[in-house]
Amino acid sequence: MIIILKKDADKSQVENLKNWLAARNITPHVSEGAHETLIGCVGDVAKIDVGLVQQLSAVESVQRIQEPYKAANRKFHPDDTVVDCSGPKIGGGNFQVIAGPCSVESEEQMVGIAKAVKAAGATLLRGGAFKPRTSPYAFQGLGKKGLELLIEARKETGLPIVTELMAIEHLPLFNDVDVIQIGARNMQNFDLLREVGAQTKKPILLKRGMSATLQELLMSAEYIMASGNPNVMLCERGIRTFETATRNTIDLTVIPVLKRLSHLPVIIDPSHSTGSAKLVEPLAMGATAMGADGLIIEVHNNPPCALCDGAQSQTPEMFAETMKKIANIRPYAWERS
Ligand code: PEP
Ligand code: MN
Repeated sequence: MIIILKKDADKSQVENLKNWLAARNITPHVSEGAHETLIGCVGDVAKIDVGLVQQLSAVESVQRIQEPYKAANRKFHPDDTVVDCSGPKIGGGNFQVIAGPCSVESEEQMVGIAKAVKAAGATLLRGGAFKPRTSPYAFQGLGKKGLELLIEARKETGLPIVTELMAIEHLPLFNDVDVIQIGARNMQNFDLLREVGAQTKKPILLKRGMSATLQELLMSAEYIMASGNPNVMLCERGIRTFETATRNTIDLTVIPVLKRLSHLPVIIDPSHSTGSAKLVEPLAMGATAMGADGLIIEVHNNPPCALCDGAQSQTPEMFAETMKKIANIRPYAWERS
């Protein structure tokens, strides 16, 4: 961190600032230039509140030269993290497709879709049992029963299961789940993040909040990792902008940007990003070409009758077609140099 001092800062103000830094175990190195005086800060600056320093009387501006996240930072962990999802590996050149319905609805639906997505090449099965819905009157998911149906579908197909955890008191019910999803709406539920960090080592699929910056996404990953769970995967699912033509707006540049900033795998969700089944395939192809480590795609056997997110759900036939196109693109995918 570098502090640029005001031109009219007097000696006593600068001394006070140096003492303030020293009291926080930061060693200040003052460098007086012809036009500006700077203080280079050496020490653990992650705990320093930049906004607060900016308000101090001698300070003109503050620049962080190091990101505030450490565990998730590529600088301190140059190699890609590979997350083992009960067999299928994600990251470090390993690419997987997670597919299944938005919500678990019945045994017949879940097992049928699981068999279809497996036949098309998916290697993990998704399905929400606890659903975060905007309306309290909408279908809220089957809860514990939904988890049992997911386990049944895994028994039938061997596909590891990915499902969303909304409340930490439900964690004991997730003992037999392979990958825990933290949804967009909970990306900054810091107590939940801390607990999935401390209480489990299961892989966590962390979805970007709909108005979160990439730095905020990485800070949320940091919460989980700093609490003891290194198995985090970042998921871009689109953010809210002024655009209304699609459900959310997605910038695929997040893939190379996140891979430069972090060693964690990056998964793209073309279903929630677009809100439209017809747009899932082109986005899935683009994300694959741009080097995503995986995709999470909503598939339903009867989208018009789905209890949640039917408009963005591919049919098993559409999904099988998309999988063929992805397989053709994958050998040419961008790789971080
Ligand atoms: C989901 O995956 O079904 C879901 C609710 O996603 P998000 O948290 O990205 O909205
Ligand atoms: Mn959904």
